[in-house]
Amino acid sequence: MGRVVGHYAPRALAGLVGALLILALVPGLALPWQLWVAVLGIALGLGLAILAHHRHLCLRCVGALPLNAAAAAERYARRFRAAHLFERRPVALGYLAAVALCSLLYADPVGRYFWVGAQLSLVYLMFAYVTHQRLQPWCPRCRHGGQEHAAPATPTPILTTT
Ligand SMILES: [Zn+2]
Ligand SMILES: [Zn+2]
Repeated sequence: MGRVVGHYAPRALAGLVGALLILALVPGLALPWQLWVAVLGIALGLGLAILAHHRHLCLRCVGALPLNAAAAAERYARRFRAAHLFERRPVALGYLAAVALCSLLYADPVGRYFWVGAQLSLVYLMFAYVTHQRLQPWCPRCRHGGQEHAAPATPTPILTTT
């Protein structure tokens, strides 16, 4: 059950954030703090489900793999790059600081657009992470033993199940 939630969690989380962003941009609409707490709780739960999902082989993911995974991996090269970029601590910390800074701008009508941008970038990174996990056997940076990445902790999924 938990794994099913984890499989669909990225999309659910993106939908949740998207709805929140639209609400936040409605002029004159003040979101009650209870809503923020609820959303934060749900987002945290979904985030944990995503992490738990990646720890095991998910048959839904395997079934959803494109027939030509290598070509798909090429298409997602930018997501792979993003996923690897954040393995560098200075990049990750700098990014988190920028996101935190943007949340301080939330109260400002113009600054709120920066906040929205920060949230959207978070959603993009989540998809980059998920795509990278799923297509990791075809990730050129992981495969070449990359300077940026130690040997992947997870075994290549496909070969063991079919
Ligand atoms: Zn899955
Ligand atoms: Zn990789």
